Amino acid sequence: MRSLKTYLPDEAATLALGASLAQCLAKGLLVYLHGDLGAGKTALTRACLHAAGYVGAVKSPTYTLVEHYRLPSGQQVLHFDLYRMGSPEEFLDAGFAEELNGDNICLIEWPSQAAGVLPPPDVQIYLRVAGDGREVELQACSHQGELCLNRLHFAPTL
Ligand code: ADP
Ligand code: MG
Repeated sequence: MRSLKTYLPDEAATLALGASLAQCLAKGLLVYLHGDLGAGKTALTRACLHAAGYVGAVKSPTYTLVEHYRLPSGQQVLHFDLYRMGSPEEFLDAGFAEELNGDNICLIEWPSQAAGVLPPPDVQIYLRVAGDGREVELQACSHQGELCLNRLHFAPTL
């Protein structure tokens, strides 16, 4: 499976990657975002949503666990942050599993918090603090994920 690794020297580079990802979104795409607090998962998602045409504020779903966005294309995007979820069962009890319906685009921070109840992703993104910037790795995990990364046009900075 395709994977891509690069260095993001500053926040602008993270935002540029988010904008590139916006060109790769497709119906039902399921993306897992891994990395410590402050690694840039929300910043990347925010840039992606704005580049995809969402005009309003993109807040971290830290306490709400999920935020819904409708793009100008009509496509629904769900941004999850499961960090504060107590157990994987909470994900089911909240009805979140039904929202991963093959239609909504879902970007999920801290998917490990719902291990065992989440379906496999199309793309996994790993972010790690490195020096003053971030290392990022994107991995395709499905045919749709391959198509997504094949469409990704991002000039690596290293
Ligand atoms: P997470 O959602 O992973 O907890 P956030 O996106 O909320 O992290 O915060 C990331 C922080 O790191 C922000 O303060 C942002 O300005 C900063 N940041 C994002 N990308 C980079 C980068 N490539 N280099 C340095 N700082 C970055
Ligand atoms: Mg976050």
